[in-house]
Amino acid sequence: TRVPDVTLNNGTRMPQLGFGVYLVPDDEAEQAVTEALEAGYRSIDTAALYENEKGTGRALAASGIPRDELFVTTKLWNTEQGYDAALRAFDASLSRLGLDHVDLYLIHWPVPARDTYVETWRALEEIHADGRARAIGVSNFQPAHLQRLFDVSGVVPAVNQIELHPRLQQDALRAFDAEHGVATEAWSPLGRGNGVLDDPAVLAIAEKHGRTPAQTVLRWHLQLGNVVIPKSVTPARIRENLDVFGFALDEDDMGALRRLETGVRVGPDPDTFA
Ligand code: NAD
Repeated sequence: TRVPDVTLNNGTRMPQLGFGVYLVPDDEAEQAVTEALEAGYRSIDTAALYENEKGTGRALAASGIPRDELFVTTKLWNTEQGYDAALRAFDASLSRLGLDHVDLYLIHWPVPARDTYVETWRALEEIHADGRARAIGVSNFQPAHLQRLFDVSGVVPAVNQIELHPRLQQDALRAFDAEHGVATEAWSPLGRGNGVLDDPAVLAIAEKHGRTPAQTVLRWHLQLGNVVIPKSVTPARIRENLDVFGFALDEDDMGALRRLETGVRVGPDPDTFA
C-alpha cells in the first residue's frame, strides 16, 4: 500500500494515514507496532502519557526499516509543561523511544488553566531548531490557543491533532487551521468505534462500495484532507484500516456523512481539561 504524504508548513512530509497506540500497554505495543509496520504503516502516533514509548521504540528498531522511511510522533504531557520541564520531558521521551530525533513533537493539551503553553512552545522551538524534532505542533488547541502562539512566535505549529470524526466534524477549527497553514490531524478518527461504525448511513455507504464501516469513515477523512491515525490491536483490522486507497466516496456519500454531526465529543473539552 502506498500512503500519500501531506507536506507540512516547514516542508516536512508526513504520511496521511498512520497508526495510533493509545491504550496499548507497553508490553503489547511492540507486537501491535510490528504488525502495523509489516502491514505497511510508516507513521506511528504515541505519547508520554501512553507509557508505551519503549515498546514502540523496540518495534521500530527491530523492523530494520530505515529511519528516514519512518515518521514517529510523540507528545508532551500536561504536567511537564513549562520551558525547562518540557526540555527534560522531551529528552526522556527520546530515550524511551531509543531515537535521536522524532518527526513530530506535540503539546498534548493546551491546559489553559495552567497558562504555560506559550513558554512550553519556546522549548519546542528550541528542540526543532536543534533538529531533534523535524516538525513541532500542538494537539487539542482551539483557535484562541493557536492565536496566542501566532502572536508571540514566528514558528507556526505544523500540525493540530484534534478529536475529529463524523459525529464531531470540527468545520470551524479545520478552517482556522487551514487558513494558518496548520495541518489538521484527526484523533479518534473512528469515533473510538462507538456508534459511528454502526450508524445506518455508514453501513449503507460501506455496503454500496463493498467496504467496511471503518474503511468508509477513514476514506471520508482522507477525502477531506485530514491526517488520520486509527488504532487497533487486531491484526485483521490493522490491515483493513490501511486498505483505503482503492476506492472513493462520491458526493452523495460525502453529503450523507456530513449529516452525522452531533457535536458530541468522546474525549474532554480542551478549554477546561487540565
Ligand atoms: P479510534 O477512533 O481510532 O478507534 C479505535 C477503536 O475502534 C479500537 O479500539 C476498536 O475498538 C475500534 N476499531 C478500530 N479499527 C476497527 C475496525 N477496522 N473495525 C471495527 N472496529 C475498529 O480511537 P482512538 O484510539 O481513541 O484514536 C486513535 C489514536 O488517536 C490513538 O491511538 C492515539 O494515537 C490518538 N489519540 C490522541 C488523543 C489526543 O489527545 N491527542 C486522544 C485520543 C487518541
